Amino acid sequence: MSEFPHAPLIQLPTPLHKLSRLSQKLGVDLWIKRDDLTGFGEGGNKGRKLEYLLGDALENGYEVVVSCGSSQSNFVRQLGVACKVLGLKCAAATMQLPYDTPAGKPNFEALNLKGGNIALDKLSDLDLRVYPDDDWMVLYDYQEKLAQEYEEKGFKVYRIAVGGSSALGALAFYKAADELKKQAGEPFDWLVTGTSSGSTQIGLTYGFHGSETKVLGISADPEPELAEEFAENGEKFAELIGISPLTARDFNMNFDYVGPGYATWSDDGLAAIREMWQTEGILLDPIYSGKAFAGLLDLIKTGKLSGRIVFWHTGGAPSFYALPESVDLLIKR
Ligand SMILES: *Cc1c(COP(=O)(O)O)cnc(C)c1O
Repeated sequence: MSEFPHAPLIQLPTPLHKLSRLSQKLGVDLWIKRDDLTGFGEGGNKGRKLEYLLGDALENGYEVVVSCGSSQSNFVRQLGVACKVLGLKCAAATMQLPYDTPAGKPNFEALNLKGGNIALDKLSDLDLRVYPDDDWMVLYDYQEKLAQEYEEKGFKVYRIAVGGSSALGALAFYKAADELKKQAGEPFDWLVTGTSSGSTQIGLTYGFHGSETKVLGISADPEPELAEEFAENGEKFAELIGISPLTARDFNMNFDYVGPGYATWSDDGLAAIREMWQTEGILLDPIYSGKAFAGLLDLIKTGKLSGRIVFWHTGGAPSFYALPESVDLLIKR
């Protein structure tokens, strides 16, 4: 593989360790890959992608980076601080709940519009634009208008797709698969990760394809068409590095743990956050890793997952701090 421009930001390899107490409790050999501990911008899976995306932006002389996401986006938070330290201007279009209407909206308050990731976005001086809730397509239009606004001012603008899910984003996780193989010694039967914009799962699925490790993505979005989207984005990645493409069937996805919808919490997810915190002292997030871990626990209990399992902790803890203060009352015991 030829080398791609790369802006060093994070500390690799992230730790891999066993969850001994949970393994004993659940009767499996359970491990955790700590991408919550990248050592940059409060951690999270987006740091890996940003090293390649912003490496590319810098190499090609871009001045402003424009992206989008939900208001508690972990990607926007990591992007904002990465741009700041690398000397790039950053702007992001956001909505609280950027849903597709057919997927519906939860009928209770979402994560609040203050605190959590938003406090950190402001600390990075990023140009944060908040638009009224609508669907993803409308949000992408706002992103494009924002990019054009900067171009009209004469800047060279680098556009980044939601969640950093481009071919370069997938490349970062294709390399992360190798990192895990080197650390693991013995291969895992299952790798379980939260999934949404896709490049985490795409890169890992390509990286483990043809091995004995099955990659399972537990979705944070109630959109079954994601597997098709992942396959399409995967093709662009395969083309980038010159390997043969996988199809939608190669992406192992589960949509059973989304709860009321994207960008908010679920009862099972909060219970899973509590379980991980009380058993292992590790904090998960309400939107992605908590729901993914709720899925992992349930799939183990129902006998669908067993053996040697690694949970990829994708980070996201800052959004936990944007939950209402009564979070303890929300957790159903
Ligand atoms: C973005 C994110 C994910 C999903 O990763 P994708 O590559 O967008 O699918 C999972 N967990 C957390 C905490 C995230 O911020």
